[in-house]
Amino acid sequence: MYRQAKHDDMLIFERAGESDFCFLTNDVEEDLVPEGMARKGLCLPIVPEREVVKHYTNLSQKNFGVDNGLYPLGSCTMKYNPKYADLISSMPSVGSVHPYQDPETCQGSLRLLYELEEALCAISDMDAVTLQPAAGAQGEFTGMLIAKAFHRKNGEERTEVVIPDTAHGTNPASAAMAGFNVIEVPSNGDGFVDMDALKAALSDRTAAFMITNPNTLGIFEPQIEEIAKAVHDVGALLYYDGANFNAIMGHTSPGKMDFDIVHFNLHKTFATPHGGGGPGAGPVGVCKRLEPFLPIPRIVRKEGSFDLDYERPDSIGKVRSFHGNFAVLVRAYAYILRNGSDGLMEVSQKAVLNSNYLKRRLEGTFDIPFGAIRKHEFVLSAKRLGEKNVRALDVAKRLLDHGFMSPTIYFPMLVDEAMMIEPTETESKETLDEFADAMIRIATEDDPEDIRSAPHSTSVGRIDELFAAKELVLSWRIYQRKKDRF
Ligand SMILES: *Cc1c(COP(=O)(O)O)cnc(C)c1O
Repeated sequence: MYRQAKHDDMLIFERAGESDFCFLTNDVEEDLVPEGMARKGLCLPIVPEREVVKHYTNLSQKNFGVDNGLYPLGSCTMKYNPKYADLISSMPSVGSVHPYQDPETCQGSLRLLYELEEALCAISDMDAVTLQPAAGAQGEFTGMLIAKAFHRKNGEERTEVVIPDTAHGTNPASAAMAGFNVIEVPSNGDGFVDMDALKAALSDRTAAFMITNPNTLGIFEPQIEEIAKAVHDVGALLYYDGANFNAIMGHTSPGKMDFDIVHFNLHKTFATPHGGGGPGAGPVGVCKRLEPFLPIPRIVRKEGSFDLDYERPDSIGKVRSFHGNFAVLVRAYAYILRNGSDGLMEVSQKAVLNSNYLKRRLEGTFDIPFGAIRKHEFVLSAKRLGEKNVRALDVAKRLLDHGFMSPTIYFPMLVDEAMMIEPTETESKETLDEFADAMIRIATEDDPEDIRSAPHSTSVGRIDELFAAKELVLSWRIYQRKKDRF
């Protein structure tokens, strides 16, 4: 990373100077806009084009992103987003279609959604898919509502959802939001679900068991068939958190493992943008007996043309407006078609290979709890560095000085000083080696103070996260008001 001249840190408003502003007046008739909502006018800084380009180009360099380099954030799967998918989703025919259009006039878009549902069914071996939820977490919530509606239809009020201790935080949150009590079961010494604890937790109160496989340690749960049987024996549903789908594509599937509900994170597995809290996409797949409960409208094919079906009395209703984030769904569709089933299988193989390669490179320097071979990610412990008073957070910050985004830290919670690393399939061996070299160099650095005070090469150093959260400065106007406090 290079350093920018001090002048480049100015806001565009400061750069303009006191008098260089143009004032655009409002030409909307006042009485058309509700009282108090009309802007009096707009004050814009006047800056030469050269300065504008420089300003925004420099700003774009201040953050680390997937396009800058390795972004090994475990669990989140920050995948490179291929540009052909962006290109396709920015076609005028995608941008100009309106969700209230008569279905007869947007057959191509409906076909695309229908075929994406079919593709996701084929990949997961589930019977039906909804594209509506806007994120994995919302997919979980949708799944929990479906579980509730299913049990209710059978005349049962089941109140509990069982979840392993390796689960992502959104699992218990979604179950609780849907009104269930959450029961946690521990992992055993191998990082698998403790079967005795699971069997003790399951009962006729259990609505569902939620699990991701491979789990957040990157370990494939070998007892999954036994788990499925135990869950189904008490009449509960088995929920597959599909965040780690990129580890298994083409090798196995939630359908083969006897899951009843699954969510996909298109922004993790199928290379669509994460966005800041969205726009994501978290489609949900279900087995045949749960299909009637899926959100409406369903896209149906009748005699060769596509239509929307709202007449579904058992449906949980809508979980989001329209059909989800269409432009994101278009990207995922393009990615799936471009790769084909062989390509998707190779994606998983490379993701698993890359993760195990990195694990082997790092296991002499860091502790890596649990023995099993990993899938697409692994979790190491930075605990040994505690002798030098260095923590996982410090290593994460120091990596920025080497040009790498940090892995996920302090999750899952059953590993002390956890660093959860997921390289994904798109990284070259050279990049993986550079990352491993950087990790090893940090672990063996002479002066721990250099690590504790990192990063040194970024546009801002360690941020006071509490202050930043309490004193939100989101605009130039807020900055003007608050600048004396900094
Ligand atoms: C990312 C993730 C989720 C939540 O998905 P979002 O799309 O971020 O809402 C759930 N479970 C696991 C294991 C995850 O990694």
